[in-house]
Amino acid sequence: MTRADPPPSLAYDQALALLIGRTPALEPETVGLADALGRVLREDVLADRDQPPFDRSAMDGYAVRAGDVRPGSALPIVGVAPAGGAEIASPLAPGATVAIATGAPLPPGADAVIPVERSRIDKAAAPARVSFDVAAIKPGDAVHRQASDAAKGQRLLVAGTRLAPQHLGLAAAVGATTLRVTRLPRVVVLSTGDEVRPPETATGDLTPSQIRNSNAPMVLALLRALGCPAVEHRHVMDDPEATLCAAREALSRANLVVTTGGVSVGERDYLPSAWRHLGLETIFHGVNIQPGKPAFAARPAEADDPRLVLGLPGNPVSVLCCAHLYLWPALRKMTGQVMSGDVSVLPWRRVMLANEASPSPKREVFRAARLTPEGAAEVLPWHGSGDLAHTAAAEGWVRLPLQKEPVPAGTGVAFLPMIGA
Ligand code: AMP
Ligand code: MG
Repeated sequence: MTRADPPPSLAYDQALALLIGRTPALEPETVGLADALGRVLREDVLADRDQPPFDRSAMDGYAVRAGDVRPGSALPIVGVAPAGGAEIASPLAPGATVAIATGAPLPPGADAVIPVERSRIDKAAAPARVSFDVAAIKPGDAVHRQASDAAKGQRLLVAGTRLAPQHLGLAAAVGATTLRVTRLPRVVVLSTGDEVRPPETATGDLTPSQIRNSNAPMVLALLRALGCPAVEHRHVMDDPEATLCAAREALSRANLVVTTGGVSVGERDYLPSAWRHLGLETIFHGVNIQPGKPAFAARPAEADDPRLVLGLPGNPVSVLCCAHLYLWPALRKMTGQVMSGDVSVLPWRRVMLANEASPSPKREVFRAARLTPEGAAEVLPWHGSGDLAHTAAAEGWVRLPLQKEPVPAGTGVAFLPMIGA
């Protein structure tokens, strides 16, 4: 095989299926509601009592027996029922009414509430009397019936739900203040490269061939946006011993190790051999896409070992793209949000291309794009995978078909929104 004839490598769909198939799903843990947002529920949550627990007034107004209300009639106000007030034990006397607040239990015997907006009080009478500007009312009007939302024991949240704020509110309503959810991975990010300096390095302290580390802050931010707070970062120089040492150390501390750079076919790309040396099995190395061809994934051979290594390429645009293509789905698998590995693991949708795009007949091309006001994808200028400057305006990625001819504006293409968008 000559240099011009690279070894065949996987298509993206194949790589993704392998990755999802081999990424471990993590065990559950118990967390408080404050830590449960975005987590995947691993148990059903049941109603601990009827919801609502009593016939509750849905309005501020007057609790009545519906049959007592006739046009022109005025009812004496014989009591007050505030929300959370002492329960009214004695039945509402026929022909009388109780002033009631939203959320208060109806007094026994009352079966409807007339909103305060439909009432007129005559305070001169003793007791005060109220008449109503209503034609006819029915039992149940403005009453939120006991158990009408859910009966005691009914399932309110289903295992597998990704917890949103309203789910946490519902859990709180039934006293489920701790929840079983899928554990979050502990992540170590390893950036690599002799040429890569910390971002805080002063301009004058950089030699012409040195660059600042843009990958590490970007990957840490992507992880945070994906709901992964437990992240550490280390930088490792291009040295086989140092790489092996850093890889071993990362693997001992993390479920998920995300590396940047050092996975290509250059002489100084030491990561793949380090992972092999540590006994990991390669899931893939090299995917037939642009950007992001060198991407790498590996995991321990033991099926129950909950660890994964993702090797993103070095160039920042490749890192950003591959974080979407591999890190995002892998995290979804680890945290229990998906089980299978087809492209539907990510929120791809069809959009129209706003401008012409250049695909390749040899490998699938992914391009950063922003959305026009009409919702079409405008592919951003492509200056290679090192050009974060033109990529920064992106709102997502378009996936171009394998073909030689340009893809004309107006063609439908797959679009993946940016993480955190
Ligand atoms: P590599 O795959 O390690 O050869 O990296 C490819 C190129 O990506 C390098 O030559 C750098 O220009 C760039 N690069 C690698 N790591 C970083 C980083 N952490 N931040 C910014 N650029 C990087
Ligand atoms: Mg490198």
